[in-house]
Amino acid sequence: MIYEVVIGVEVHAQLRTQSKLFCGCGTVFGLAANSQTCPLCLGLPGSLPVLNQAAVEMAVRAGLALNCTIAGSNLFARKNYFYPDLPKGYQISQYEAPICEHGWIEIAASEGRRRVRIRRAHLEEDAGKSVHVAGTNGSRVDLNRAGTPLLEIVTEPDLRSSDEVVAYLKGLRDVLMYLEVCDGNMDEGSFRCEPNLSLRPLGQKEFGTKVELKNINSFKFVKDAIEYEIKRQTKVLNEGGKVSQETRLWNLDRGETVVMRSKEEAHDYRYFPDPDLVPLKLEKEWIEGFRSSLPELPAARASRLVGEYGLPEYDAGVLTSDKDLARFFEDAVRAQLPASRQDQDKMEQMFGVAVLDSPREIAKETSNWVTVELLGLLNRGNTKQADKPKSLTIRESPVTPQMLAGVLFIKRTGKISGPVAKMVLEVMFETGKEAKEIVDEQNLGQVSDEGELAKIIDEVLEKSPAQVAQFKEGKQQVLGFLVGQVMKASGGKANPGKVNELLKKKLG
Ligand SMILES: [Zn+2]
Repeated sequence: MIYEVVIGVEVHAQLRTQSKLFCGCGTVFGLAANSQTCPLCLGLPGSLPVLNQAAVEMAVRAGLALNCTIAGSNLFARKNYFYPDLPKGYQISQYEAPICEHGWIEIAASEGRRRVRIRRAHLEEDAGKSVHVAGTNGSRVDLNRAGTPLLEIVTEPDLRSSDEVVAYLKGLRDVLMYLEVCDGNMDEGSFRCEPNLSLRPLGQKEFGTKVELKNINSFKFVKDAIEYEIKRQTKVLNEGGKVSQETRLWNLDRGETVVMRSKEEAHDYRYFPDPDLVPLKLEKEWIEGFRSSLPELPAARASRLVGEYGLPEYDAGVLTSDKDLARFFEDAVRAQLPASRQDQDKMEQMFGVAVLDSPREIAKETSNWVTVELLGLLNRGNTKQADKPKSLTIRESPVTPQMLAGVLFIKRTGKISGPVAKMVLEVMFETGKEAKEIVDEQNLGQVSDEGELAKIIDEVLEKSPAQVAQFKEGKQQVLGFLVGQVMKASGGKANPGKVNELLKKKLG
């Protein structure tokens, strides 16, 4: 039997507010246990919640960016359950009237770009954390996280493979990070995923029984857990069994999912409107004000980079996956394109040449240097300054867009070759010095002087009589080898075009 996989996803995104959803306690990660608590988030009797306006604004902006309808009238509800990290015995959430509904996000699926529908996104408070320390008696509870604002974003069952789920999650995380409503830090639990999936015979309309996978905080684990679950459910069905509706956990060490609990239904939670909170009314003009101030989002920016700079879609996708990376790229391109005659003169003064290449060539070259060379260096970290290099983000890059533009400029003038330019960038990364300074200091300028080159060429030809003979017999390919030898002998500084020309002349 061939089965179709049907997947929906719930994401809990922590909103980047300074304080919690219903009290003034801070939301800093990693502080001493229970140091960010007050009577309200400890659930003490008599305390009353006050809604955090910043959290509502962030939810509205996220909803608009995700193409949702924003509800003018919002209700908060109590979701009742017992757990040690939930001191009130209920979680304040939204049930019947979520703040955002009926949105969508576009993903790159195997058959092309496709919309994934977002059913709803609602505000709720996070629970605390139970801490189980091996070798100690019992467990402890840390309530620093209790009451932190979350946006829970729920899709329709529109996803069909683990790759699509990862594409959706990455796209969603990018949007939330562009909006600066979520820091996207998966290690700290700021972006947690709960996929639910079921199988059905291919062609069947009705859904199979779904299993929910709880709190996964890495794209790789999401993919692994879904792949595992597809195999497990296929086996159960093929053996004539029934998949039971349950919540499972991804066990990293064993590489398998394990049952956590049988799935509860909504009525198990006895939702009812929270009597401590008045219904929240949002005015239309207030909502629309946020729409007009939304930043350019990743998908729009990617298609603009393709249209404006002629970049391949792949490059545009990599660059726009991070707002600051995209900004770095555009700044570096702009720094190479003179806006006026005056700028051009200034550049000629600084670098000795004016811009010659077309903007599109400059953009493609810059994209390669940002996504391959610079990201490579950032990933590796600074080897000179730290004993144990740690990878850096683009925001921590010691190379600025203007500095990278300087390297590419000098390379374009022919003063340094591609390999030398890479070396210059590396030195720049380690020392923070400008390209011109590095080239001058280390005497890296490309050798184009015919007399100097002729000397190196003669030496190489003398050492390679066999290749010279082959070339004279008509083996043209040998020329590439000889050019390579000359480049090597010159320490990468010879001008390859000139070398080619002179070699041909010498060999007749
Ligand atoms: Zn508090």
